[in-house]
Amino acid sequence: MEGSKEHIVMLPFMAQGHLIPFLGLAKQLQQRFGFTITIVSTPLNVQYLRTAMAKDSTASSQNSQIHLMELPFNSSDHGLPPNTENTEALPLSQVVNLFQASTALEAPFRSLVSDITVKDGQPPLCIISDVFTGWANDVAKSCGTVNVTFTTGGAYGSAAYVSLWQHLPHRLTGEQEFCLPGFPDSCRFHISQLHQFLRNADGTDPWSRFFQPQLSLSLGSFGWLCNTVAEIEPLGLDVLRKYTRLPIWCIGPLIPPRMLSTESSSGSGSGSRIIGKHTGREPGVSPEKCLEWLDMHSEKSVLYISFGSQNSITTSQMMALAMGLEDSGKPFIWAIRPPVANNQRGEFKAEWLPQGFEERMTQTKQGLVVHKWAPQLEILCHKSTGAFLSHCGWNSIMESLSQGLPIIGWPLAAEQGYNSKMLMEEMGVSIELTRGLQSIITKEEVKRVIETVMDKGGKGEEMKKKAAEIGELIRASVKKDGSIKGSSFKAIDDFVSALFSTRGGVNF
Ligand code: UDP
Repeated sequence: MEGSKEHIVMLPFMAQGHLIPFLGLAKQLQQRFGFTITIVSTPLNVQYLRTAMAKDSTASSQNSQIHLMELPFNSSDHGLPPNTENTEALPLSQVVNLFQASTALEAPFRSLVSDITVKDGQPPLCIISDVFTGWANDVAKSCGTVNVTFTTGGAYGSAAYVSLWQHLPHRLTGEQEFCLPGFPDSCRFHISQLHQFLRNADGTDPWSRFFQPQLSLSLGSFGWLCNTVAEIEPLGLDVLRKYTRLPIWCIGPLIPPRMLSTESSSGSGSGSRIIGKHTGREPGVSPEKCLEWLDMHSEKSVLYISFGSQNSITTSQMMALAMGLEDSGKPFIWAIRPPVANNQRGEFKAEWLPQGFEERMTQTKQGLVVHKWAPQLEILCHKSTGAFLSHCGWNSIMESLSQGLPIIGWPLAAEQGYNSKMLMEEMGVSIELTRGLQSIITKEEVKRVIETVMDKGGKGEEMKKKAAEIGELIRASVKKDGSIKGSSFKAIDDFVSALFSTRGGVNF
């Protein structure tokens, strides 16, 4: 391939939710254009990527062209627990230290890009950096290349993020609800939907002092890549374009290709089984066992519940959720981890659930409780799965919608509140059960919401129809049929053409 002499350097932020889409993008760019890709990160994250690549047999032939390089990062120098390079399990007060510490990577990153430039005889075609590492723009300029910002979330969430940081503070209005510049007046945000640290940010606090400059630098990029599909988020994309005034290529969803084949869709009713190699942690229950359990249940009857790779709920919320689930009588798979304020990697205690809950669920076959890590992709692709109770992390949303599954939202942190709002108000594929860790929920409310979404007829039916339509748009976006290209497929072509224009012409 003509592009194969070109080199792209990637700099994901140091968290699993960012590494996965970056790796997905690296594979696509390597596979379709033959680029050499170097993904640069800190030692623990490089180790995670190495394991993920080793376990992905489909990528083995590509792996030789996807290089991993470590940047030195000694977390203990920055007052963080030793060996911590990830936001997981860090108290919020220390997460800001981690963000600030990440700027110390600029000098070693610059020298790494310089070394690549010398070795290749030309600068990399581009640097693709995270929205949290805006300083990579300065590195790109000084090394004679361009920086592209990759926002691993959706367009609406990213637009809200940009607007919020550019219009601080939000608390001075004294109002719980407010309009967000760039969004229509009818689209009001509630203070409880904001990132926790944004609620009190005023431009002088440590969060603002990190995020505002990184964002300004990112707005000086050559363009932005967004992990979404243009057709499914028109409002978010419109606001994001208005704010960045940059080209935005919607190249998502960067989820495993096996979820995007027509056959994988539970919406298609094919019920094909998808078993992939696991790239993350050890599963609490094997994918085969989950599939066997799902086989016992009727089509679209099972609710899958997960709060993602990092979050959990409180003990009282967990209790109410369990009781409401049991009362609903609906079959469910629950990826469960200890409630917050307990060691989330530690032993699970039966007292956190109603007495005899797990045993009863096993006996009656109503529920499968999966401790630690669930094979989420396999579960979502199975024809018996009918809805997803989710914390609204972007990967989970894309995985669920790609299978045409409606969502029961319970946003907990980060940009999940904006995602949940968008799913309800823009897409109409979700109901929010509750929000955050402070909320008090009752088993009656849990039961009512589950029934609304899962029962036939009514609002749930409308949500399922819309989710199926969105699923079709998502799967169509990544297809190429002769000369007809889906929007995300074409966006990657357009992005690469734009990059080649910086070298003086379109080269493929
Ligand atoms: N995931 C999984 N099993 C689990 C929990 C999470 O496979 O038990 C995967 C899930 O498929 C998704 C990712 O972890 O790809 C979670 O990413 P998301 O953006 O939804 O949330 P985050 O973990 O970043 O909050």
